[in-house]
Amino acid sequence: MPLYLISTNPIGFRHYRPVPSMYPPYPIVLTPREFRNLIGEERYPKYIRLLYEHKRVANSSLDLNRRVQLLYSLNRALNDLFGNDARLRLNNITNSFSGSSNYNPQTNTITLTGRISLITYLHEYAHSLYENLYEFRLKASRLNLPNTEYFAVAFSVTSFYAVMPTALQRLQIRGHCLVRRI
Ligand SMILES: [Zn+2]
Repeated sequence: MPLYLISTNPIGFRHYRPVPSMYPPYPIVLTPREFRNLIGEERYPKYIRLLYEHKRVANSSLDLNRRVQLLYSLNRALNDLFGNDARLRLNNITNSFSGSSNYNPQTNTITLTGRISLITYLHEYAHSLYENLYEFRLKASRLNLPNTEYFAVAFSVTSFYAVMPTALQRLQIRGHCLVRRI
């Protein structure tokens, strides 16, 4: 199934949905230039390097403890890079769907549930950036990403695509989510 490259202009979505949903109808992939600008010119090379250094988080044949370590290490490194302070908590790590993971702005905590998934982690991390740093709300509105969900989808899908393009193509589009094929 091809990856949908869609306009980030929300006006376009009205064609599909008369009532704009909180969730984008498709996964959003930003253009390389939009993405670089979103991350920030100076941060961008470091951000991509961090993703490469930690992408084995997504490797299910790697030892689970090692993956958990990598995930915490990535969270610390991203906080340093962005000047953020999101907390990370793992809850009930199993081999099931990771979609009930969430970010709670009241406690500034990302809670990951189910299978350890890099794209899910990046999605929740993006919510923390949107919530904590005005810079990202501003950039989101400039990219016509109207709310935190659009931002989190664009951020996580484009990040994942940057370092694991073939893995992304293996995922299946279900609404705004990319999920493992069953
Ligand atoms: Zn979300």
